[in-house]
Amino acid sequence: MRGVGSALAERLSKLGVTQVQDLLFVLPLRYEDRTHVESIGALIPGTRVVVEGEVQLTEITFRRRRQLLCRISDGSGFLTLRFFYFSAAQQNGLARGTRIRCFGEVRRGPFGLEIVHPEYRRVTDEPAPLEETLTPIYSSTEGIAQSRLRALITQALQELDSPGSAVRDWIPSDVVKSLGLPSLKEALEYVHHPPREAEIAVLAAGRHPAQRRLAFEELLAHHLSLKLIKHEAKTEPAWPLDDRENLAPQFVGSLPFPLTNAQSRALRDVNADLSMSRPMVRLIQGDVGCGKTVVAAAAAARAAGSGLQVALMAPTELLAEQHFRNFQEWFRPLGLPIALVCGSVAARTRRSALEAIASGEIRIAVGTHALFQEGMDFKHLALVIVDEQHRFGVQQRLRLQEKGQKNGRFPHQLIMTATPIPRTLAMTAYADLDISVIDELPPGRTPVKTVVIPEQKRDAVVARIVEACREGRQAYWVCPLIEESEELRSQAAEETAAALAEALPGVRVGLVHGRMPPAKKDEAMLAFKDGKIHLLVATTVIEVGVDVPNSTLMVVENAERMGLAQLHQLRGRVGRGTSASTCVLLYRAPLSQLARERLKAIRETNDGFEIARRDLELRGPGELLGTRQTGLAQLRVADLLRDADLLPRVQDTAELLLASYPDNIAALAVRWVGTAERYGRVG
Ligand code: ADP
Ligand code: MG
Repeated sequence: MRGVGSALAERLSKLGVTQVQDLLFVLPLRYEDRTHVESIGALIPGTRVVVEGEVQLTEITFRRRRQLLCRISDGSGFLTLRFFYFSAAQQNGLARGTRIRCFGEVRRGPFGLEIVHPEYRRVTDEPAPLEETLTPIYSSTEGIAQSRLRALITQALQELDSPGSAVRDWIPSDVVKSLGLPSLKEALEYVHHPPREAEIAVLAAGRHPAQRRLAFEELLAHHLSLKLIKHEAKTEPAWPLDDRENLAPQFVGSLPFPLTNAQSRALRDVNADLSMSRPMVRLIQGDVGCGKTVVAAAAAARAAGSGLQVALMAPTELLAEQHFRNFQEWFRPLGLPIALVCGSVAARTRRSALEAIASGEIRIAVGTHALFQEGMDFKHLALVIVDEQHRFGVQQRLRLQEKGQKNGRFPHQLIMTATPIPRTLAMTAYADLDISVIDELPPGRTPVKTVVIPEQKRDAVVARIVEACREGRQAYWVCPLIEESEELRSQAAEETAAALAEALPGVRVGLVHGRMPPAKKDEAMLAFKDGKIHLLVATTVIEVGVDVPNSTLMVVENAERMGLAQLHQLRGRVGRGTSASTCVLLYRAPLSQLARERLKAIRETNDGFEIARRDLELRGPGELLGTRQTGLAQLRVADLLRDADLLPRVQDTAELLLASYPDNIAALAVRWVGTAERYGRVG
């Protein structure tokens, strides 16, 4: 491409851009309207606008810190520009009477409306032209200025018209037409250069047909990739697990409880798969606390009983350690040692674990992703169990499949997730997996009672903790979700723990947060599990998987800030034993409509699938949806929940392509998933 030297090419490759076509699929995060000058009198706080005005006054003030204030006016009103970082030259350039044009976010300040650190330039007799289209803002581009990236993309868009353009529309045009969506070219032109009359709100919500067209294509590419992964997996050889040592039945028999019917059904599915000479790729989906781990352990016993190896991978060290302890307890009676492989394990212990795993002496290894890093070598890995799969995307799954491979044999894969998603979503997001659902909780659980209480009544809540502890119960206190940084989150948790310890003499208070060294975290969790700590103050690190049946009270601060799925996951930490549990959601007024609806939903139901459904309903346009939240896949434009209505057509279009346009599939996968090389083999 014209003007792209090696340094820029390298920076672009960090964004995944190695060809002209890749540039077009670097999609804007949001848009700004720099197409017209807004009159100052009509400004609305929270909007980002271009304004022009004449400087009335520029002065340095010291309100807490030194800053430059500049007041401008355009005859319709006044606006303050506020700078915390500025040079003398800048100050001089803003002399009274100077006309400037600036751009930035309007907000309420102490002297009326203001913009902090606007972009600005002097207006001369020949003012610079305004933008003709909305301005796309791309995600942070490490060393490539937005303006540079925009210029490159504009250049790439022009090449769309050249006859040999590599950017082909791989979806048959009648499919696109029947969906009422634009062609690929139209869609790309629109999203990179929306006309000035485009509605920013619709674009921000990702609901413009141009965006939906791209979302459809992305979902299709992912769906096809997953189907092909499954197809590929199913053609590879794996060890059929016969459990000749009969360990699985021994393990199940040694449990202090019978399996629930749903657990037995899931285990039957798993056993049927494991006896095959093709790899199992199965997802066990079930609400928090339904007992997925026990089913996974039975599968592990079966692999070990066949003389082969198992790796159980958890998303965090905390969870890995918890699984490790459970497995040790369960498998000690069967004479099976367990190895723990994660960052917190001391080097020497780790080395001897690696040796024992490489020699095949250890059959069951539990750990984090460290299990599959360099230096790990299994003698004969027959089964990989992944806990809480929502942290693992397509790419990770592919890698796992490859890493586990040995002598042409592929490991069976068992994936556990507590992310309850509706069936149509599951069919797309998990197209590569067979699914077993555990839709029943172990008996004797009393449903968790959820109450929503304003922050002002915090004292009454604290009193409840004393009560619970006096009855020999334990409690969690979950600190607010502070987005800014893990550091602030951890600091807030530390302060809360100190304050609660002071307010509650006689109650032993512990603390876990993300910035503690793993050994400390472990120590606190263990002490809590052993009942040496009564009240555990935590950040949302305890969200997944922690299991302490004696804790019956959970307090969540600033619950209004949390998503439904997250609240549900958190709440799942209590109600794991037989006594009645309560979850107290503290909120700070005023509540937004959405927050009110969310709190109502979480109070009304304990059913994960129902919560997922309400979550889907509540997420209206304008709200930033993370696939990170649902965590189903790493998608660029599409959002599985928002675009759920497209999924049936994604599925039938996938069938159509597989049947009639097989050559288009690899091209789509390269474009959206970036896994080209793998499709040669599948064809
Ligand atoms: P999750 O599905 O959230 O991973 P776990 O496997 O951690 O759930 O199980 C939650 C708790 O329920 C554990 O304490 C476990 O020992 C217990 N449990 C599992 N299955 C049963 C059962 N069939 N009957 C009684 N308790 C069970
Ligand atoms: Mg679990």
